[in-house]
Amino acid sequence: MKKILKTSLPSLSAVLAGNPNVGKSTVFNALTGLRQHTGNWTGKTVESARGEVFFRDRKLELRDVPGTYSLLSGSTDEIVAEKEICFGKRDGVIVVCDATCLERNLNLVLQIIEISPRVVVCVNMLDEARKKGINIDLKLLSKNLGVPVVGTVARKNKDYKELLSSFFDICENPSQNRVRVTYPRELRRAIFSLAKEINKFNSSSLSPEFIARRLLENDSEFRENLFEFLSLSENEKEYIKSKTDEVINAAVEEGYDVKKIREDVALSIFNLAERISSDVTSFKKKDYIKKQLKIDRVITGRALGIPIMLFLLGVILYITIVGANYPSEFLSNLFFSAEEPFYLFLTGIGLPAVVCEAIVYGVYRVLAWVVSVMLPPMAIFFPLFTLLEDLGYLPRVAFNLDNLFRKCDACGKQALTMSMGFGCNAVGVTGCRIISSPRERLIAILTNNFVPCNGRFPRSYVGKLFCP
Ligand code: GDP
Repeated sequence: MKKILKTSLPSLSAVLAGNPNVGKSTVFNALTGLRQHTGNWTGKTVESARGEVFFRDRKLELRDVPGTYSLLSGSTDEIVAEKEICFGKRDGVIVVCDATCLERNLNLVLQIIEISPRVVVCVNMLDEARKKGINIDLKLLSKNLGVPVVGTVARKNKDYKELLSSFFDICENPSQNRVRVTYPRELRRAIFSLAKEINKFNSSSLSPEFIARRLLENDSEFRENLFEFLSLSENEKEYIKSKTDEVINAAVEEGYDVKKIREDVALSIFNLAERISSDVTSFKKKDYIKKQLKIDRVITGRALGIPIMLFLLGVILYITIVGANYPSEFLSNLFFSAEEPFYLFLTGIGLPAVVCEAIVYGVYRVLAWVVSVMLPPMAIFFPLFTLLEDLGYLPRVAFNLDNLFRKCDACGKQALTMSMGFGCNAVGVTGCRIISSPRERLIAILTNNFVPCNGRFPRSYVGKLFCP
């Protein structure tokens, strides 16, 4: 969106949050006119991008945070996202959701609404939802959540006036009736009594109930960040710490297992998300979900899941290995037929023989080899791999292999980065950022090397095996 007018009115700031791959970067780019990389790949936004847009004679600063499914599990992406949402400079949050899987997205929405009353929900991918016969009642959703909801098709949308208007409005008039998650009684009581204490020191827009819940979880990093954010004195810090301990002890005495807080929180949020989602979602193609489940049952099932996966990945490798031989041969003939004329040209312009040889038999020959050997398989492998991703098959591969990888203390997503390693190890290694646990990511990075990328693949030999 173009800048409309520069002004001296105080600027506003928004954090753009959402699950991975819901179109957050597309919305961000459309609003700011920037070109943050967008792609159909989970966990793509790994750092906060910043941009600005002018609306109603005011500047709105936008920050795009890493895509996360929740703020509860404590992975690096989630910590970064939670920190930005809680302690970053922001007036409100825009949460982008995928209309095709609203329930999953609502989990995050509910967690963010718990943090702040200034939230706008942007339900994106409405075109995809329509194709799948999914209809979402946006008005009812807004009523249920108690915050504004705007529908978008970010891939085509050029007009974000409604989204921006809603955001500016909610910043001026924070929601008074946002939805509240109902936690188990003992937890509710503990949150309530600690929130009363926190209210004495909370000058921020963070909800005291949210702060209380997070303090009860005993997350020392969150606590330190909070104390710094609220600029508390040492006495105030000690006071809050002792009150937290008091409330925890009281809850334990009541028979509440405080180790279960995160589990209870996740379950309560999950139940509410499920209820709201089923309330606002209707399906035109009644059997669509059934059909999807049937397909899923086959391609991730015990009997056929692994054979189908091996077959599909095998076909891709076969096409890459065998198919690449033809363009490889063509390119190498082309480049090597130019070698002699190139050498003659260089000697013709008077360069010493030693320089000509270094250029032609050193630089040129190596470059010709690398291009003719590596370019064709990459140009075949990656589009085919992308096709599998667009068909939604790659997450199923990760699901199928998750158990096996877990047995090796790794993670199912590694199956994807290892498969990418067949195309190029550099791409496989950089792709490892989709793995949220640092330990599992390190394992995936170190072991990617064991997958022979196409540059190291004995292709002519394997090619001969396939077509002797
Ligand atoms: P992010 O991970 O949330 O930042 O998602 P991106 O902005 O990178 O978008 C992921 C993919 O979804 C990209 O291929 C986008 O072109 C595509 N996309 C974004 N918005 C829409 C939409 O409204 N409809 C459709 N069909 N695709 C979209």
